[in-house]
Amino acid sequence: MSAVLRATGLWKSFGSRPVLRGVDLSLSAHEVVTLIGASGSGKSTLLRCLNLLEPIDDGQIFLGEEDISDPRVDANRVRARFGAVFQSYNLFPHLSVLDNVTLASRVVRREPRRDAEERALALLERIGLAEQARQHPDRLSGGQQQRAAIVRALAGDPEVLLLDEITSALDPELVGEVLDLVRQLAADGATILMATHEMAFARDVADRVVFLDAGTILEEGPPTQVFGAPRHARTRTFLSRVLP
Ligand code: ADP
Ligand code: MG
Repeated sequence: MSAVLRATGLWKSFGSRPVLRGVDLSLSAHEVVTLIGASGSGKSTLLRCLNLLEPIDDGQIFLGEEDISDPRVDANRVRARFGAVFQSYNLFPHLSVLDNVTLASRVVRREPRRDAEERALALLERIGLAEQARQHPDRLSGGQQQRAAIVRALAGDPEVLLLDEITSALDPELVGEVLDLVRQLAADGATILMATHEMAFARDVADRVVFLDAGTILEEGPPTQVFGAPRHARTRTFLSRVLP
């Protein structure tokens, strides 16, 4: 099976401190992979390296057939093939929800506004945010903002969705609606790599769980294996700290 995204031997340091130490990771089409690991283990750095927000020191990244780690690639063009959502501050505060969602289509892909808005409204409708389309993000709840950010990430028909702790800035009662949307996207066949500290979600929705420990993938496998029968003592220690 050909990989949608494949990274091999990724190394990344900040100053003299290695943060990614030889990471190999690949995602097949429609696969949902959750990335777990202690704070500081390198989850965000890995996601940022994959969509070229951070330069890597060594290794290769393939998106489909293309070697996107080739220094000659146009990083903006490559990033438009990913959908990325972060912990917070995903939406431009001075633009309406609709303009946020359609911005990339209009500006990067030069799609006519009417077409972009039609598709955006259909997406917003599907997740119950059509009424908020003309409002500014500060009028929305945190959960609605993150759902709108996910819709914006989807608007460009991304090959892979990268989600980085997208619920960690939310009040607990708002987490469910955002995770429900991710669950729906997964069921619809999206290819997703998601760093999360929502362990129940990581277990329930993932096809595969990847445990990152100090910049290396210590263990990965189906959720039943990683959560039910972890192979490494460090995985067990981590899980015993984060599982209820
Ligand atoms: P995680 O997302 O798993 O919590 P991060 O990838 O954010 O981990 O961070 C991994 C390590 O890299 C941390 O020690 C963090 O302080 C460091 N780090 C992350 N980004 C930078 C940066 N831009 N400059 C320097 N150090 C960084
Ligand atoms: Mg992080």
